Amino acid sequence: MTTSSGATTRIPTDLTDEQLPGVLGEALAGLYSGEARLPARPGGRQAALTALKAYSGKDYIGRNDLRGHVSRLSMYLRHGMLSILEVAEHVRGTMRGRDLSEFLRQLTWREFFQLVLAQEGARVLKNMEEPKSRVRWTDALPDDVRAARTGLPCADAWVTHLVEDGWMHNHERLWFAAYLVHWRRVDWRAGYRFFREHLLDGDIASNALSWQWVAGTFSAKPYFMNKDNIEKYSAGRWCRGCTAPCPFLGEYAQIESQLFGGPLDPNPAPPNMRPRGGRR
Ligand SMILES: Cc1cc2nc3c(=O)[nH]c(=O)nc-3n(C[C@H](O)[C@H](O)[C@H](O)COP(=O)(O)OP(=O)(O)OC[C@H]3O[C@@H](n4cnc5c(N)ncnc54)[C@H](O)[C@@H]3O)c2cc1C
Repeated sequence: MTTSSGATTRIPTDLTDEQLPGVLGEALAGLYSGEARLPARPGGRQAALTALKAYSGKDYIGRNDLRGHVSRLSMYLRHGMLSILEVAEHVRGTMRGRDLSEFLRQLTWREFFQLVLAQEGARVLKNMEEPKSRVRWTDALPDDVRAARTGLPCADAWVTHLVEDGWMHNHERLWFAAYLVHWRRVDWRAGYRFFREHLLDGDIASNALSWQWVAGTFSAKPYFMNKDNIEKYSAGRWCRGCTAPCPFLGEYAQIESQLFGGPLDPNPAPPNMRPRGGRR
């Protein structure tokens, strides 16, 4: 596989013939295999260059808001229709100050995840670190989540967005991942596979490592949100008129106790002090 930066190896080169099918199988599991669907976005190098040229990046600093001016270039980067360097060069010409530094910071996350995959190989599909709480996860994606019938207008909208558009805003990805792992107690790998089935930008590195970041197996602390956060960054689009009992309602400390059985250790031992590899 070719990365945005032109590097070519993603699967470790020292795998034995016996290991290879298992590693490839795990890496590719969950790819969409249903009926052909119309692409949600125009593909190809020309479409990618047109999209890049049209992107000014103005007010990118407000990217956390669902109405923020994000680029939607991820699909083109993912499939090698744009390189990370040409995107960086373009925005250096169109963006300034905090907009520019924030955009470059996000591009760097992508590159960082690619480098972790290049170094760690198939290990990115296993917990990179021990989970930060003793909560047990189940393996399967619940049917009501897959069908967008959880009864929560926000969660159902995130799934509909994923399945119908093949793209989600970063904040929707974070919220959905936190909902699935922390509220529904589902193993992050089920979410990773669900995303890989549908995301037009779905890749191994950004997808697996972002899920792990939310789950707390590749970060100092699991990511979670509350209703105020969802309401604020979605301009209340789902909360208005919502009559479902809201699982996200509450202060952060209260939700942390509810989800993890108490406050999480603010200073966990660094990763190299914890046992490496293996599942919980
Ligand atoms: C659970 C989860 C799964 C994800 N899975 C993927 C995935 O499979 N493929 C993928 O490309 N991104 C993934 N992301 C990262 C991020 O959500 C998308 O890259 C971003 O939303 C793409 O939209 P954009 O092009 O408008 O981003 P912009 O905000 O315009 O950012 C520009 C580029 O920077 C990179 N980028 C932006 N945010 C991130 C981020 N948080 N992490 C890594 N790179 C980033 C992308 O290449 C993006 O195209 C995931 C995030 C989460 C929380």
